[in-house]
Amino acid sequence: MDNLQGILTEIVQEMGAREARGTVANYIPELAAVDPTKFGIAVALPDGRVLSSGDTDDVFSIQSISKVFTLAIALGRLGDQLWARVGREPSGQAFNSILQLEHEQGRPRNPFINAGAIAVTDAILAGHVPKVVLGEILHFVRTAAEDDDIHINKSVARSETETGHRNFALAHFMRAHGRLFNSPELTLGTYFHQCAIEMTCEQLARAGRFLTNAPGVPRMVSPDRVRRINAIMMTCGHYDASGDFAYRVGLPGKSGVGGGILCVVPGKASIAVWSPGLNAQGNSQLGTEAIEMLARQMGWSVFA
Ligand code: GLU
Repeated sequence: MDNLQGILTEIVQEMGAREARGTVANYIPELAAVDPTKFGIAVALPDGRVLSSGDTDDVFSIQSISKVFTLAIALGRLGDQLWARVGREPSGQAFNSILQLEHEQGRPRNPFINAGAIAVTDAILAGHVPKVVLGEILHFVRTAAEDDDIHINKSVARSETETGHRNFALAHFMRAHGRLFNSPELTLGTYFHQCAIEMTCEQLARAGRFLTNAPGVPRMVSPDRVRRINAIMMTCGHYDASGDFAYRVGLPGKSGVGGGILCVVPGKASIAVWSPGLNAQGNSQLGTEAIEMLARQMGWSVFA
């Protein structure tokens, strides 16, 4: 652990020199305006230390990384009944694909593709108003990070509400199959706001500590459930590049189109990286390369 700070500094230098940085998500207008040269990385350790380097004071849109937190909340509330609504198999399809949903009668493959995450949000919305559920999601994230200064960027949520036609298509399709219990407007209004939560790399790394099951970290869900969430992160956390991420990095992770990745080293560390440029599969290009470099240098992998 002694050389971790040096490795993070080296990663920031190395990534700063790389020319191929991917493309910033432009289907959400508000995200298209983010500076593509930004790069930050942070590692939270069980002893409470957080080491970081790069643009670590900037907040970024966590987008699909929020799906890890809503999955934890939904499993806490519904237990295994959640799996009646959404599967837990990798999709092998793009994050916003409609194709598979039609083949499989409106039951999404897993909780991390858009359709599955919309179904999870719909499940935790049952019997509540969006404001209360969003309050609960924020409370969960703030408690996990031990930091109350975490908020939702309303402009990003509005921007996606105005342009999220594919997500509306997914929600309406599930509703047509009787698989969405609230109106698409209500469920997506909540979903777009959860995606618009903003955090710094340090806040996100801290919020991910509960997924390490290490002694002394905030205990948000049972250790058994943490293992299962990690399994889904490993198999489904990077959409149709999940196999490649497992091969290259060997750690459970979840990406978001804001350019963030949350990655878990069970028992050892929670990593957050942010670089806004995305690769063809919608995952942070340099973020993936940075975590690959960090994991290799630290000897971190779940595969021993
Ligand atoms: N809010 C984004 C969407 O629904 C999340 C996608 C992602 O981060 O991968 O399209």
